[in-house]
Amino acid sequence: MSDRPTTVDVLLPYALAGCYSYSVPPHLEVAAGDFIHVPLGTRHTVGVVWGDRPQPSANLKLRPIAARIELPPLPELTRRFIEWIAAYYLEPVGNILRLCLRVPGVFDARRETIGYVAGPVEPDRLTPQRTRVLEVARQGVPLRASELAAEAAVGVGVVHGLARQGALRGVALSPFLPFAAPDALGHRVALNPEQAAAAEQLRQAVAARSFSVTLIDGVTGSGKTEVYFEAMAAALSQGRQVLLLLPEIALTQSFLERVERRFRAQPAEWHSGVRQRERERVWLGAASGAAKVVVGARSALFLPWRNLGLIVVDEEHEPAFKQEDGVRYHARDMAVVLGSLGRFPVVLASATPSLESLVNAGRQRYRHVVLRHRHGVRKEIPSVELIDLRTAAPEPGRWLSPTLVAAMQEAIAKGEQVLLFLNRRGYAPLTLCRACGHRIECPNCSAWLVEHRFKRQLLCHHCGHQQATATRCPDCGAEGLLVPCGPGIERLAEEAAGLFPEAAMTLLSSDLNRGSLLKDALSDAAQGRYNLLIGTQLVAKGHHFPGLTLVGVVDGDLALETIDPRAGERTWQILAQVAGRAGRGERPGRALVQTHLPGHPLMQALAAGDRDRFLSHERRVREAALLPPFGRLAGIIGSARDAGEVERFMRALARRVPVSREVTVLGPAPAPMALVQGRHRWRFLVRAGREVNLQSFLSDWLKGVEPRGSLKLEVDVDPYSFL
Ligand code: ADP
Ligand code: ZN
Repeated sequence: MSDRPTTVDVLLPYALAGCYSYSVPPHLEVAAGDFIHVPLGTRHTVGVVWGDRPQPSANLKLRPIAARIELPPLPELTRRFIEWIAAYYLEPVGNILRLCLRVPGVFDARRETIGYVAGPVEPDRLTPQRTRVLEVARQGVPLRASELAAEAAVGVGVVHGLARQGALRGVALSPFLPFAAPDALGHRVALNPEQAAAAEQLRQAVAARSFSVTLIDGVTGSGKTEVYFEAMAAALSQGRQVLLLLPEIALTQSFLERVERRFRAQPAEWHSGVRQRERERVWLGAASGAAKVVVGARSALFLPWRNLGLIVVDEEHEPAFKQEDGVRYHARDMAVVLGSLGRFPVVLASATPSLESLVNAGRQRYRHVVLRHRHGVRKEIPSVELIDLRTAAPEPGRWLSPTLVAAMQEAIAKGEQVLLFLNRRGYAPLTLCRACGHRIECPNCSAWLVEHRFKRQLLCHHCGHQQATATRCPDCGAEGLLVPCGPGIERLAEEAAGLFPEAAMTLLSSDLNRGSLLKDALSDAAQGRYNLLIGTQLVAKGHHFPGLTLVGVVDGDLALETIDPRAGERTWQILAQVAGRAGRGERPGRALVQTHLPGHPLMQALAAGDRDRFLSHERRVREAALLPPFGRLAGIIGSARDAGEVERFMRALARRVPVSREVTVLGPAPAPMALVQGRHRWRFLVRAGREVNLQSFLSDWLKGVEPRGSLKLEVDVDPYSFL
């Protein structure tokens, strides 16, 4: 008799807190990690063998596993990682597994092997749906019917219909291209002494083949990227895989090309824009070990890594690493967890590290590598000057103070480039009726509609609701008395065009993010085709505009005016980053920050270029209030279609808060965003000291709570959003 298991626990990619048991039919051999098909209700689903079940309950009739899928097993590291995350974020473990299986084609035995490109025949009639399909198909990349349909947002039947008529031509899809082997030596720069010392420390961390976290803390342009490339090279020389994790918006084509140049091989890409077939290739490459360098966004952590030896998290301070819907996890923090479970080094890099990481460095939990100098011609960091909006105010209805306008004039006259920064898309954030005072709000959210003048629309930036710009007040009916209040970048553009009619100007925001519009605008900007750039946060990082010498921050206080406990830190990071865009070329740079709070410690430290001063202020504030990283927080968000229903539910929850001297529960109260997409929201905020096991408090509290009907309860451990 063999001791092969006859019953196994199987984890399914659904919101289930545990495994289901299945019997193993006699002809099958399965082991932990194997991907299998199992029956579930009336369907089949993919699952993963999680472990043996030594004592099957004798009287239970288990359903058998249907088939084993021919794939490398889900690695043990990934399985432990999944369990760790589920426990930490109080999330059903099946939901975490689902993050690992977002490549349906990989598990499908009947993989589509035909791709479609545009064919020679015109279709008999052109519907908008067909037009969209043909537009995508004309890009020339053969796509599966399902991919083509998804990209054109039509049903798959539309694709098949066009194919039958010959308007689409089927071609056999080639097998996946192999991954090019990276060259660790590749194209290296000669490191300066400061960089060389930093690189040496990282190489040692990699050589130790054990867990460590190193924070590379270096001003913009100091060569952090060149330095962590050396760590990646060291891990590649060990034959291991490397993950370079970036916030999605920093994952640009030009950055990927830089990685490709350095290692003389195209890296694998993993982010929301990667097509299905390519995702399958990368997933399989991660599983086989063939994909050596993966440049990815958050979810790349959940690839089935066979032999991961290093994770680099660039821009580690970015709040975008926090996933805010579905499973709420922080990818930087989870990169550190994955490194510790897998016993390999993690490198965090930033010009403006998070207070969390700096405190960890101060406590000697992280190694701290500092790069003080910009590499290259311009060594100085641009100077920052404050413009006091209380004394040097712009005229009413204008947003650029005379001081800023004079500086712009001077720079433009010298043929230099100017960037105006305002983190607000559209024309005006609020439309007000002068007759009755009505403010136009989103029908689904507690948010004002933002006027987008070029599109002639009012948009909700929370739910995407849009309606045509009005001339008549929806409340009192007065005609022609609606006024836009406050500026967005479109309105700034209007003001700047009036002041500098000769200047070549462009707007840079995610509104351009269709096709290659944005990419082209950014590259034109970098080549100096514009005198004047007006942009949102999108331009604040990563981009290199050699001719840029003046940055004007239109509203330095914008990010400060929120309830976020990290508002100060965010403001500092954004302002430091956007100021760092100036003076990266031959000529020195200068940043002017318009503010109503020039006396604020943050503004003072910014003007003095004194980061330590800001940090010690920030540390004191947060330590006193027991805010992260000195305390722990969790948000509990209840929502429902009906306002009374969620209120009753949350008040009932409040009555069962476990007694604890260590944990403070604030609320329940209506959330600042009390209505989102038609759902009414209430919140608790839970706060405790660092040493408290918050998870066990929360699970005691919420055990057995089952929201019914339209009620939903979400737990947000280590929240970044407080809305
Ligand atoms: P950071 O990541 O700190 O912003 P980068 O690594 O991107 O800095 O370096 C900024 C620019 O300077 C890049 O174009 C980079 O290739 C270049 N650079 C940095 N260090 C060196 C060096 N030692 N020799 C040549 N070029 C360098
Ligand atoms: Zn809305």
